[in-house]
Amino acid sequence: MFYIGSHISASKGYAAMGRQAVKLGANTFAFFTRNPRGGAAKAIDEEDVRKFLALAEEHAFGKLVAHAPYTLNACAAKEEVRRFARETMADDLRRMEYTPGNYYNFHPGSHVGQGSEAGIARTAEILNEVLTPEQTTTVLLETMSGKGSEIGRNFTELKQILDQVECSGKMGVCLDTCHVWDAGYDIVSDLDGVLEEFDRIIGLERLKAIHMNDSMNPLESHKDRHEKIGQGQIGLAAMERVINHPKLQGLPIILETPNDDEGWAKEIALLKSLHKAEAQRA
Ligand code: FE
Ligand code: FE
Ligand code: ZN
Repeated sequence: MFYIGSHISASKGYAAMGRQAVKLGANTFAFFTRNPRGGAAKAIDEEDVRKFLALAEEHAFGKLVAHAPYTLNACAAKEEVRRFARETMADDLRRMEYTPGNYYNFHPGSHVGQGSEAGIARTAEILNEVLTPEQTTTVLLETMSGKGSEIGRNFTELKQILDQVECSGKMGVCLDTCHVWDAGYDIVSDLDGVLEEFDRIIGLERLKAIHMNDSMNPLESHKDRHEKIGQGQIGLAAMERVINHPKLQGLPIILETPNDDEGWAKEIALLKSLHKAEAQRA
């Protein structure tokens, strides 16, 4: 199956998100678990969740890829910033259990001068505090562009985090095409090589989702500025190879491109038409 979707506003609840996804032609989506800048999450309405689960089943949705607030920094030097990360993630993971078996993606963090080794250890420490053997959610580390003091800027740093997490079976990785390109992984001329490197260092079985974004900037620019599909430095031909790569089949693909709903619907239709099996099915 080909699972594709975009970010959807969570403000009207789960069933509204599901309906909006269907309207865009999507069969998965991403949403912020709370205001992306942080703050309290809305109370869960179980009836709303029930409606959503029925809709998701009816439309054969793939796994959702929830996104933690991007202000969350699990490896900050300040204890109060780490406390926010700890409490937010623990609360989000409790909430995720209302929609069991999905993905919760987060940015591993910025070490802000402590050095990446210390940052990696701190992020792993928070994960060890919030993950439980009972949870059905898989937590995904997002591949980062290496902007500022971000950790997770290469596969080795992600592997180092994974190695320090006790509930290792609850962890995976989300590959962001803009971020890995900006980090210096040439998915345009050597996608096979990049995936081989991912497999050698992390293991491809850990790769659970893709954020599909073009990039405004050249390879290894460490900028993290997303562009619309096919309008950046990565280009449409490379995106077509990504979605059709045999090792990437069945993963939910999430668009985080600078678009409105109409733009996302167009990109979803475009990528569906470029996915060989999906185009044949349609
Ligand atoms: Fe992200
Ligand atoms: Fe992303
Ligand atoms: Zn980004």
